Amino acid sequence: MRLVVLGPPGAGKGTQARRLVELFGVPQLSTGEMLRAAVADGTDLGRAVRAMMDRGELVPDEVVNQMVSARIDRDDCRNGFILDGYPRTVEQAAALTAMLDGKGTKLDAVIALKLDRDVLIERMAKRVADTLAAGGTVRSDDNPETFARRLEEYGQTAGPLLDYYRRRGELVSIDGMQGMEAVTRNIAKRLGGASSDPDG
Ligand code: AMP
Repeated sequence: MRLVVLGPPGAGKGTQARRLVELFGVPQLSTGEMLRAAVADGTDLGRAVRAMMDRGELVPDEVVNQMVSARIDRDDCRNGFILDGYPRTVEQAAALTAMLDGKGTKLDAVIALKLDRDVLIERMAKRVADTLAAGGTVRSDDNPETFARRLEEYGQTAGPLLDYYRRRGELVSIDGMQGMEAVTRNIAKRLGGASSDPDG
């Protein structure tokens, strides 16, 4: 199963991707997590992207395209993957299509989570409060200004990206305002995998 999960920041893309991993037994590939790991490890890549990430800006397409291409060539992706946070631009989507074409394969579906902006802002504030209450460390781009920038960036790039996949007949829109389990159930149903729903 080769899936992309799209949605605004704070939509629960990562959560849904992790649940789909259980459902389909393929790895989750999160470009945000890969980049944060590179920053934490202080690699050349991490040093190059750190400031852009802290400002809530996208890192250059070539950087993420190369990272994803190398990752999906690894053995654990032979039966598929769940991409979360990539592609973010039409250029990245076209690069992904070309990568998969080159391997003689294609995406099964692109899941687009739909949520209202106010709910996203509330969820971000709650995620920060919960993390701090648990003594955890808050992501450096989870603050109101950067979050607003990330939402704005999504608003600008999402339309063309969704159109790209709609034209290819790969887009599956899902109401992301319901509870986490209901959203997974809906995705599974739309993919024709309702019987393997982890919640029964
Ligand atoms: P995320 O965890 O997906 O919200 O990503 C966090 C940050 O990583 C973003 O604000 C970007 O700076 C960077 N990033 C992650 N994925 C991409 C991507 N596909 N293209 C460009 N930048 C990305």
